[in-house]
Amino acid sequence: MEHFINVILPIPLEKLFTYSISEPESRFLQPGMRVAVPFGKSKIYTALVFEIHTTPPEVYEAKEIHKILDDTPVVNTIQLQHWRWIADYYMCTLGEVFRSAMPSAFLLESETLILRNERGEVDESDLKDDEFLVYEALQHQSMLRVDEVSAIVDRKNVLPILNRLIEKQVILLKDEIYEQYKPKLVRYVKLGTAYQSEGKLEELLQSLTRAPKQSQVVLSLFQLEVKDKKPIKITDLEQMSGSSKAVIKTLIDKGVLEEYHIQVDRVNYDGTAGDFDLKSLNEHQQKALDEIQGSFDGHKVALLHGVTSSGKTEVYMKLIETCINAGKQALYLLPEIALTTQLISRLQEYFGEKISVYHSKYSIHERVEVWNNVLAKKAKAQIVIGARSALFLPYSNLGLIVVDEEHEGSFKQFDPAPRYHARDAAIVLSNLHGSNIVLGSATPSVESYYNSQTGKYGYARIDRRFGDVLMPDIELVDLKEQTRKRRMKGHFSERLLEEITDTLDNGEQAILFQNRRGFAPIVECTTCGHSPQCPNCDVSLTYHQFKKQLRCHYCGHHIALPEICEACGSPTLDTKGFGTEQVEHEFKKLFPDAKVGRMDLDTTRGKYGYEKIITAFEQQELDVLVGTQMLTKGLDFRNVSLVGIMNADSLLNFPDYRAHERSFQLLTQVAGRAGRTQKRGKVIVQSFNPYHQILKQVSTNDYLGMFKEQLYEREQFLYPPVNRIIKITFKHKNYNTLNDAAEWFAKGLRTIFRAGILGPEYPPVARIRNQYLKNVIIKIPLGQPLGKTKNSIKRIENSFNAISQFRSVRVIYNVDHI
Ligand code: ADP
Ligand code: ZN
Ligand code: ZN
Repeated sequence: MEHFINVILPIPLEKLFTYSISEPESRFLQPGMRVAVPFGKSKIYTALVFEIHTTPPEVYEAKEIHKILDDTPVVNTIQLQHWRWIADYYMCTLGEVFRSAMPSAFLLESETLILRNERGEVDESDLKDDEFLVYEALQHQSMLRVDEVSAIVDRKNVLPILNRLIEKQVILLKDEIYEQYKPKLVRYVKLGTAYQSEGKLEELLQSLTRAPKQSQVVLSLFQLEVKDKKPIKITDLEQMSGSSKAVIKTLIDKGVLEEYHIQVDRVNYDGTAGDFDLKSLNEHQQKALDEIQGSFDGHKVALLHGVTSSGKTEVYMKLIETCINAGKQALYLLPEIALTTQLISRLQEYFGEKISVYHSKYSIHERVEVWNNVLAKKAKAQIVIGARSALFLPYSNLGLIVVDEEHEGSFKQFDPAPRYHARDAAIVLSNLHGSNIVLGSATPSVESYYNSQTGKYGYARIDRRFGDVLMPDIELVDLKEQTRKRRMKGHFSERLLEEITDTLDNGEQAILFQNRRGFAPIVECTTCGHSPQCPNCDVSLTYHQFKKQLRCHYCGHHIALPEICEACGSPTLDTKGFGTEQVEHEFKKLFPDAKVGRMDLDTTRGKYGYEKIITAFEQQELDVLVGTQMLTKGLDFRNVSLVGIMNADSLLNFPDYRAHERSFQLLTQVAGRAGRTQKRGKVIVQSFNPYHQILKQVSTNDYLGMFKEQLYEREQFLYPPVNRIIKITFKHKNYNTLNDAAEWFAKGLRTIFRAGILGPEYPPVARIRNQYLKNVIIKIPLGQPLGKTKNSIKRIENSFNAISQFRSVRVIYNVDHI
């Protein structure tokens, strides 16, 4: 009998691919093991065994596998089911899920790979345009193949670029086909065996009297041994003795010291381990906890709706404690930007070494370590805290999932596929494990609140802050009036200035929020109205004062700020609109004595980017922090009594059906950073439209009012949660081809669905990296079977792909687009 395996390849194939295996291999292999397989003319891929069987493929001759890469499965069957669901629901392939779910170190291929150099400090302004593109791509993807780099910079020979990037320490190359995961070894020293006895030691010190540096090292080693009674790291010895590596090396060479290695995990906790008891909950928290428990008992998802600083985190911790006491694993999911040291150390205080952290800023090796620890059910990975990708770890007995800040849009992956929503995929995962799941937020998404109202989810609410701290006092300031009365200094109203002055006088801190990074997003000529555009994308370039550059936020293209208008030649370029950098700049002029920091994408690159700024603010080295929405999330600063929202209008005017919901959430969350201790916090919201319904709802903390109004609108216009939407994006270099293609597809959809098809329509930015874009939106009534609908769409795509002129048009599905 012949034996075969169906494997998942890490590429977008519609079907699983079949390979032939020997009889002994068929007895050894199990689903979830990796195999190296040949594909196409010359490629080798890491593939994952999905099933083992005896049916040969019909249309091709099955090739043999090259090599088995694992002794035991690295992916379990629950994961495979979960991936299947993600691929089906979000209309992508299992290969795409596979590629995105596993740490890339598990997926190495035969071609040369380009990785980012985690150690290099990159000066972006030093990079040429094409170099910058590669660098940017590596911010989103941990590795690239050479052909992918070719596609990014749009040229064949990319070796010169790669060589320059290696020189600038931006990238590293990897040639090994199957690089083994290398555990991290730490170097330790001890006294050479010959000198272990007491008499010998004295002799040694005698002999070293002429070498004071060396004897200092030996003495320090002694002191360290006495003090810690632990193995001594070479680095510690260096520090303690104040001597150089060379001196220590001499002693090792002489045999006085002996060097040895101990394997350590990169992600290690080195504080006092979980010695603290959990805080006892107050009555409101306890009630919420009971209600959540009640939902769990009824096998329902629980929604915890608690105002900012109501103590939700403490409630989660109780749930986690119960879960791990039952010997199960717990997953704490957070949006990437909320993953702060603050929260991690808070959890570590209680759970100590049981916690592992998993997110995209960690290196490939760190991620492999966490993966393996979860796979081996190690105690140190019993609680995983992570961003959306932590959903893909190989849990075997998950007891609880916490989805904190569940309303956050960044839980939805935008690019590349799978374009999944981590909250929704978490609910499915909890079903597969039979585990509990709680969604928490101060400002639940309209969907989740709706589900709690219809009885699909359980619901618990805490509507006062812990310790009866008052909700902040929110004051709306009318910018129109202030401008008319000439009360503005730059972008600061008189009221805001007064409040800042008071705050600083009291030795308290303030946060200033502006929803845009950069200095003044757009530069415009006051003579002819021209504003410099990106040559590759249909957007105006954004001004960054610090580097005196104009940059495209879509493709990374940048130029030096021109002196004169390129259209009319006048020296009258002026800035329009404003960003965080300008707020910081104006603030410094107005308050030269105050210390101000800025937190946005530009200042927080790198693994410890956020931490540095947050710590500085926390330790009150900064008086004021200016930032984008990055500072709304999960931060708990004790001394902040004022939050200033520089301009609420840009949020409200966003052209999207969710703009109002999102504004409410964002503003409430930012306001929630104020006054988390006894003194009532103050929030100043500046707006040209202070009578806007949403601003009123924010200032009176009227979530329900917001929900009702938004739900009414969604019902009127058939948007979620009363309908589902699928967005299809078409992409092509040629404008006419794109238009024809999108029209053809939309027509096909209309013949099948009749109602509910919007578009094709250009998005606000209709060309990115020289590709034109057009969207079609399909609204699907909740009663309509989703599987059938998707099959119909796929059938249209198949006929579409049969038209030669359209074959090169990319079709991208985004299910539940938000
Ligand atoms: P949320 O997650 O709802 O924003 P937190 O859990 O961060 O709220 O709680 C706000 C503050 O109140 C934190 O500093 C937290 O330590 C404190 N706190 C919350 N619950 C308790 C409790 N039961 N006992 C003591 N302090 C608490
Ligand atoms: Zn001009
Ligand atoms: Zn661009």
